Amino acid sequence: MTGLAPGFGQPLHATLALVQGATFPAFRSTILLMELGAGGVVFNQKGEVLLIRDRMGYWCFPKGHTEPGESLEQAALREVAEETGVEARVTAALSPTRYTNNKGIEREVCWFSMTGKGKLRIEKGLAGAGFFSRDEALRILAFPEDVALLKEALRVQLREKP
Ligand code: ATP
Repeated sequence: MTGLAPGFGQPLHATLALVQGATFPAFRSTILLMELGAGGVVFNQKGEVLLIRDRMGYWCFPKGHTEPGESLEQAALREVAEETGVEARVTAALSPTRYTNNKGIEREVCWFSMTGKGKLRIEKGLAGAGFFSRDEALRILAFPEDVALLKEALRVQLREKP
């Protein structure tokens, strides 16, 4: 036997994918308490990073919930395009973040480093969006998880440069 029982020795999103198909009701209600999302840390050609200002006024990265049948990467690209109009492509996978949102819901968000271009268009409901220098982004990001995420994306970018 080579498989692992759900919840043991694998990333949370893999466990979620396994048990999302389960018919056992207790599993399903457990799943609903943890909502999965995907998003992007998007750099433009100048090396600036794309941030959005959410409806609460927090600067963060574009992201959202995954839709049925969609890969995490597809969900992240779709959310970036929907929220900002930026067409991006994935360059690397980053570490997931976990937090409890303002409604008390546990979130796990899977992130990808991306390069993007296109005219910024801010989705209705958001308070703003823009490309920022690395230092400015590190200064205005609202959540420590997102500061750590940007630092990781910058390290990954440096490693990938020829
Ligand atoms: P979606 O994933 O579709 O964008 P959503 O807009 O409800 O859904 P959430 O991240 O679940 O997004 O909720 C947003 C709120 O959660 C923020 O306004 C803020 O209050 C809180 N929040 C977001 N990120 C963090 C974090 N890293 N730490 C603590 N609270 C956070």
